[in-house]
Amino acid sequence: MKHPYYTLNERMQARYGRKIRKICVDGGFTCPNRDGRCGTGGCIFCGARGAGEQLDPTKTIREQVEAAMKQRPGNEWIVYFQNFTNTYAPVPVLRARYDAALLDDSIRVLDIGTRPDCITDEIASMLAEYAKSREVWVELGLQTANDETARRINRGYPLSVFTDAVRILKQHGLPVIVHIILGLPGETLSDIRRTVDVLNACRVDGVKIHSLFIMKHTALAYLYQSGAFTPISMQTYISWAIDALTRLSPDMTVHRMTGNCLRSELLAPDWITERDLILLTIDRRMYAEGLTQGCRYEKPDCFT
Ligand code: SF4
Repeated sequence: MKHPYYTLNERMQARYGRKIRKICVDGGFTCPNRDGRCGTGGCIFCGARGAGEQLDPTKTIREQVEAAMKQRPGNEWIVYFQNFTNTYAPVPVLRARYDAALLDDSIRVLDIGTRPDCITDEIASMLAEYAKSREVWVELGLQTANDETARRINRGYPLSVFTDAVRILKQHGLPVIVHIILGLPGETLSDIRRTVDVLNACRVDGVKIHSLFIMKHTALAYLYQSGAFTPISMQTYISWAIDALTRLSPDMTVHRMTGNCLRSELLAPDWITERDLILLTIDRRMYAEGLTQGCRYEKPDCFT
């Protein structure tokens, strides 16, 4: 069934005429919100592997890419530098690590996950060089546009840093994909609408949406266990996610609508593992109510 929103799969089919598979890579980076440059505790939901629990840090970058290619020969690829902050190093180091991943022309997209406070003009300019031979995407973990919530989750930068980073990346012609989380502590539907408004106003190219889940041994786990935080229900997530989709710009690519966590690392809620059910319920409800991505979109004032 076609989704009532513009998926990454659709975008890649339209552009390349086929499905492009993803190789997730641990690039050997750390994060300024963990090593003391910006903070030490990290975002309260972040696990010890910086959202890369399934990756193998003992393998080189090249070995990781080769292993994935060997498993599914004959494909084309997005190489995604996934965990921690993949622009947090001097430019020559960044180049060496990206080059190690770009084994051949079957890699159509170099996809870099990072923090907005680790985007500079020099880094964007270097990424734009790579964009001459293949697509380059930059993924920024915003989570929320609300600076009060950002402090609560220990994100370590205000919204203005995000809008500055998007402006720099756009000036270099680089597509920007933004991660947002629904169900952050203290947030309501109106906070989510404000976050979506900011994404629209910044004219970002893609979005990844998921519900906040609690991984073991994180600061959020201690809040949960002490009763100070309760995750939202699946029904609330589905309602809020649909609301967000209807307000998103219709041409923004939706890269993801669910979270992903190793079962062994997940503390709560169990329902986030029901990926197929969540996606199916979103589709069914949107079709039943005649809703599509952007059906409530309002053209914003651009502020980047
Ligand atoms: S910025 Fe990313 S890697 Fe760093 S602490 Fe936050 S979630 Fe973890």
